Amino acid sequence: MSVASKILDIRSSLPASVTLVAVSKFHPAEAITEAYEAGQRIFGESRVQELVAKQQTLPSDIEWHMIGHLQTNKVRAIVPFVSLIHSVDSQRLAECINREAERCNRVIDCLMEVHVAREQTKSGWDTEELQEFVASGALNNLKNIRIRGIMGMATFTEDETIVRADFERLATIKQSLERFFDSSFDTLSMGMSDDYPIAIACGSTMVRIGSSIFGQRVY
Ligand SMILES: *Cc1c(COP(=O)(O)O)cnc(C)c1O
Repeated sequence: MSVASKILDIRSSLPASVTLVAVSKFHPAEAITEAYEAGQRIFGESRVQELVAKQQTLPSDIEWHMIGHLQTNKVRAIVPFVSLIHSVDSQRLAECINREAERCNRVIDCLMEVHVAREQTKSGWDTEELQEFVASGALNNLKNIRIRGIMGMATFTEDETIVRADFERLATIKQSLERFFDSSFDTLSMGMSDDYPIAIACGSTMVRIGSSIFGQRVY
């Protein structure tokens, strides 16, 4: 199946309330162009250098999402154009994005990445730490970022019970934080190629799908 038909296939299976982020990391610009021609406008990348290179050569109406771990010393390179950063995992990073966004006169949409998976290797806020941080009001001073919701990944396992429990936990965490924000806190980014139907059943509003669209990545 072509990239275009896979995009159309997946889109037709998603409820209208769910946004599709096509995760194009490790795939060439030609693959993105094929998806673009099929109508896709939102693409996710996980490495700054690759994201910047692609943004420079591809159509300017693409909305680029940063979905991978972001180091503070790389923030400046993406702040001029990025439309959503999914991977804010510390106060230091939030402050850094805010500072760089102010320099560019932008307000940047961000998601707080929360760690719920059983693997210790995955990044993200510990739930209690995030709740304390948000409740502290520290975000009120960061006028150049807008927290749109949370992002998370489920445990890497075939056991659907565990995956579902992880997604339900993310949905609960998002709900528990809603009272600290206005109605723009509306995004629950969860679900990838292997688990997005479960994520949607648990309330996902944004799925990040790579290999089911572009095929296996060659690292
Ligand atoms: C790579 C990646 C995805 C996409 O994974 P697939 O299994 O290829 O769909 C989604 N989210 C994040 C954070 C990723 O790094």
